[in-house]
Amino acid sequence: MYCTQCGTKTESIIPPLDNRLRNVCPACGYIHYVNPNNIVGVIATFNGKVLLCKRNTEPRKNYWTVPAGFMENGETLLEGAQREAYEEVGIEPMPSNLFMTYSVPHISQVHFYFYSKLKNQSTRIGDEINDVMFADHSEVPWDDLAFNSIRVLLEHFFKVGDEKAADSFFNLSSNG
Ligand SMILES: [Zn+2]
Repeated sequence: MYCTQCGTKTESIIPPLDNRLRNVCPACGYIHYVNPNNIVGVIATFNGKVLLCKRNTEPRKNYWTVPAGFMENGETLLEGAQREAYEEVGIEPMPSNLFMTYSVPHISQVHFYFYSKLKNQSTRIGDEINDVMFADHSEVPWDDLAFNSIRVLLEHFFKVGDEKAADSFFNLSSNG
């Protein structure tokens, strides 16, 4: 890669006082750290049913997920989750709590899902989504979920139940 600060080709070396290979610029010394990405999302419900949305983009186009996406610089977890929910399905959730964190170390991601009860079922489908549904446990398209993290999230939500979800928090990982 090339240095983001000065454009010089970087070298892969272990910097002093470090123990991992990093891309280091031989010209200006800038160290390009690569750290896990944060995914922020919302498990939004109405009358006990969960809002699911069908992806209109790759990867996993036409598979079901919840409103979620990459956190942006300069925003909080909650702001990121609310932004994604509004962009993707036009909802303005007032998340009552952080319901689940989910670490996926093999792809260096950490997911943060807020729980929110919606006041109504109105949605506005953005470009990234091509369908929405409100599903109870039996209506969830379990074989057509976009990611394993969504399966874990939904399984935990239905195990806890809509009434107790607002007071629940789970810190889970794909490592078990
Ligand atoms: Zn440089």
